[in-house]
Amino acid sequence: MLWFTEQHTPNVRFSIKVDRQIFSEQSEFQRIDVFDSQEFGRVLTLDGYLMLTEKDEFIYHEMIVHVPMCVHPKAKRVLVIGGGDGGTVRELVKYSSIEQIDLVEIDERVVEVSKLFLQQTAQALEDPRVTCYYEDGLKFIRRVESAYDLIIVDSTDPFGPGEGLFTKEFYGNCFKALHEDGIMVNQHESPFYKDDAYAMQRAHKRICHSFPISRVYQVHIPTYPSGHWLFGLASKKYHPVKDVNWQAWKDLRIRCRYYNCQLHAGSFALPNYVEELLRDVED
Ligand code: SAM
Repeated sequence: MLWFTEQHTPNVRFSIKVDRQIFSEQSEFQRIDVFDSQEFGRVLTLDGYLMLTEKDEFIYHEMIVHVPMCVHPKAKRVLVIGGGDGGTVRELVKYSSIEQIDLVEIDERVVEVSKLFLQQTAQALEDPRVTCYYEDGLKFIRRVESAYDLIIVDSTDPFGPGEGLFTKEFYGNCFKALHEDGIMVNQHESPFYKDDAYAMQRAHKRICHSFPISRVYQVHIPTYPSGHWLFGLASKKYHPVKDVNWQAWKDLRIRCRYYNCQLHAGSFALPNYVEELLRDVED
């Protein structure tokens, strides 16, 4: 009997029974593993940390894409930093209004392995609007000025290759890279376990310094530590709930299994303890 186990805290472990390991390789940047499991289908891990499973990745990828795409009235040029599995791009290509998707993924092997073993998320990477750049997002963003309507930071956690994507420098450069009504959404860790909450507070404090509107929304992801996960939405102009033309998004008739407009609005209503964690780091 084989189990994949991830340490969520020194005292908490999360295990998934595994039928077989399909792939394992040490790339230039990280250890890449793919497993097959009864409960969650295929599982992608990087450096032993669970990135996505076929069964629940729709939750993460729908919420990281459709919330900002409902808020921004006409996003045409989108930058995805990280996201090498392709799930975020798969949701983006559902919008015919989007003309350009640039994906900046540091590890080309993640894209190649996803195309081989995770067709469910990687299928849209062949879309003609998608251009892949295999480099560090922290460096890529330095040379970009007022070029995108939406930046989605679909990163690993703030250690290892992903560490630079949680810095003040990075967020400041994302602000510079966005048009005057641009939006940045980021994978924003979790409020529940101490270390995750600390990482969340640190990211929020830095984003608040760069953007006039910095909000956080929540989602339930069964395979992430505690299941209580957050996204950040930083905006130069539009408020993510007050300034939304809900009917315009509904008229697009985009089919989702998780996202809907009521859930979008509700996801910005946070528990008191999460509001306190955020307020503690806001000037
Ligand atoms: N989308 C998945 C999910 O459901 O959470 C997981 C995120 S995706 C696999 C994270 C990606 O960020 C990885 O492929 C990793 O290689 C990439 N990454 C980490 N640090 C990066 C950096 N500095 N620049 C660009 N990509 C980076």
